Amino acid sequence: MLPVVTLNVTTGHMKVGSHGSVVRLLVRALVVVSFFGSLLVLSGCATARTETPIGALTVTTFRRDYTNAHVVRASSGRTFMIDAGLEANAPALDADLRAAGFVPNELGAIVLTHGHADHAGGARYFHERYGTKIVAGEGDRGLLAEGKNDTLCPTSDDAKADLAKHQAARYRPLEADVWVSAPRDLVDLVGMPAVVRPVPGHTSGSLVVTVGDDAIFVGDLFRGAVLGSSAELHYYQCDVAKNATDVRALVTASPERSRFFVGHFGPVTREAALARFAP
Ligand SMILES: [Zn+2]
Repeated sequence: MLPVVTLNVTTGHMKVGSHGSVVRLLVRALVVVSFFGSLLVLSGCATARTETPIGALTVTTFRRDYTNAHVVRASSGRTFMIDAGLEANAPALDADLRAAGFVPNELGAIVLTHGHADHAGGARYFHERYGTKIVAGEGDRGLLAEGKNDTLCPTSDDAKADLAKHQAARYRPLEADVWVSAPRDLVDLVGMPAVVRPVPGHTSGSLVVTVGDDAIFVGDLFRGAVLGSSAELHYYQCDVAKNATDVRALVTASPERSRFFVGHFGPVTREAALARFAP
């Protein structure tokens, strides 16, 4: 018979009925594991992986250091990736992809929503190792050539506090195989219905990717919430009014059941995005 265990969550102390010492040790071990597990996730060191089925597609999101890389899988088995995380995390992302059953050298392309280090930095690793084709916005050609972020405009005190770190972020320069300056069908690269188009604002070359009818990848056009499922203004936007106009235009033109896959946290429903960015 199992003992009754009461656990004081603030101290990890507990009272046990029978088999006290064994249970005490097990519970202590569990408390320690879950505590450090939580710390790892909160600190961004561990990778969180979530799967979102959307119509015939599955979107698998790998989140590390608060930044998402999304892999889209069609029912045919074809895959491609949207954003590639920080350069320093690319080998870990490679391992995460394999652990999730993906074959990195079969990715049809990596589409970079923009040239910031936390989205574009990892792409060169996959290009060099597997020959993965890189798709990026023409307007971010300069950022990719220099491997650095443009001038960031913080939208909150939290963002101001992290500004120096993010402004200083660097990655090894890279070239895209496909530069996007107008809406472009990606079916030739990724083998599924997908369209990429420029929505400049967060950076000059920011892109939005629509896969199928209703899986929409917006990069840092807006973000998800740290807790909960609301849409939020991104940490860095230089023209907040234009940003809200761009979000509204995109969201109102999208189907009712759309899901918005963002660069940080999320995904976000159409309803949540409209609620946050209503005039
Ligand atoms: Zn960004």
